[in-house]
Amino acid sequence: MRGLSERVKAMKPSATVAVNARALELKRQGVDLVPLTAGEPDFDTPEHVKEAARRALAQGKTKYAPPAGIPELREALAEKFRRENGLAVAPEETIVTVGGKQALFNLFQALLDPGDEVIVLAPYWVSYPEMVRLAGGVPVEVATRPEDGFVPDPEAVRRAITPRTKALVVNSPNNPTGAVYPQEVLEALARLAVEHDFYLVSDEIYEHLIYEGAHFSPGTLAPEHTITVNGAANACGPRGVIKAMADISSQSTTSPDTIAQWAALEALTNLEASQAFIQMARKAYQKRRDLLLEGLSALGLKAVRPSGAFYVLLNTDAFAEDEIQAAERLLEARVAVVPGTDFAAYRHVRLSYATSEENLKKALGRMATLL
Ligand code: GLU
Repeated sequence: MRGLSERVKAMKPSATVAVNARALELKRQGVDLVPLTAGEPDFDTPEHVKEAARRALAQGKTKYAPPAGIPELREALAEKFRRENGLAVAPEETIVTVGGKQALFNLFQALLDPGDEVIVLAPYWVSYPEMVRLAGGVPVEVATRPEDGFVPDPEAVRRAITPRTKALVVNSPNNPTGAVYPQEVLEALARLAVEHDFYLVSDEIYEHLIYEGAHFSPGTLAPEHTITVNGAANACGPRGVIKAMADISSQSTTSPDTIAQWAALEALTNLEASQAFIQMARKAYQKRRDLLLEGLSALGLKAVRPSGAFYVLLNTDAFAEDEIQAAERLLEARVAVVPGTDFAAYRHVRLSYATSEENLKKALGRMATLL
């Protein structure tokens, strides 16, 4: 049989998805496991959003949608970006996608020629470099350090810029570090994008999960150079880039799921219900974060205090030689975590606290026994 493409042979499958699938499979087999793997909210979808999906189904809104999304949702997105992010966005400058992942995937396909460089701040979410490579680009790593709270140094970013730099990926609040970048750092990065004429890819999917500090959208400073990617599966940015992303959708997925789009419209326009849900979730995550950090510190383990998202990067020096061995030892103790390797977070594992307090206490108890 003929082989696969070189492009795919060079690609690593997603570690977060793989480890989560493995944890789910072990649970399915009846293993009493505490999974701290999934970067996915554990709260059920709010009832009013589910109801909107049921309504769309009952009304037969099940056909193809335009590649960039239904007009009603694009209008609501433009309004959301104006209201919450201070971005002056028209509906034609928004796109609805199948998850934030497709927005990023289409974006790199739209922007990159072979050899174009994309600066990624390490530790990074596992999918950024792979998506860049799949589009023919070259990821260029700039490290952020635990002693700086994993906040990037704009001067280090400047030193990594070359004539081939096409984009810089920024993710605040950050997966996997939980860092929330101060506004002046984001401003400095936006200025670099304008000065050196590259794109700023601002992945703001965790914007509502901030426990200390405030969210800032760098696109406000560099609207022509920024593509803002967000949860509920969407992005906004310069018209030409958004159109190219929609054209790529038209040749791949055609359109995002129509029923889900009507549900997303309800979530974006029923502000009272959505804000109550977000506040409830944020409060719960903050409590869980504090519980987890206190527990880890009581065990003598080291972790940089995250200010946002729902992840803790745990240093593994105290109980393992590297992060792979650490994840294996934790799995033997029936706690599933993601090893830091594919995040470029060596000697660290990622713990997701998007799970119940009961699960977190159980995990801490098992870690105590392991240690
Ligand atoms: N954002 C989540 C994570 O990092 C979902 C899994 C993925 O798509 O990577 O765990």
